[in-house]
Amino acid sequence: MEQMQFCHSCGMPLQNPMAGIVQGNYCGNCANESGHLNPREAVQAGIAHWLMSFSPDVTMEICMTRADHYLKAMPAWAK
Ligand SMILES: [Zn+2]
Repeated sequence: MEQMQFCHSCGMPLQNPMAGIVQGNYCGNCANESGHLNPREAVQAGIAHWLMSFSPDVTMEICMTRADHYLKAMPAWAK
């Protein structure tokens, strides 16, 4: 069985059609065509919008905070 690969930046399964053009360990939303990671703020905003699509009753500010915590657990951003 093939192992599931996840984006090291946002955690999206790389087999997901929404991942776009996969660049190494990163999905097409997190890295550009040359495989360089997008700025953390851009990735964070993307995750915040994604979180909001699940919980429309929470504010963008809360989603940005949640996205910040989320990124701290990702290999690409954990320091
Ligand atoms: Zn990603």
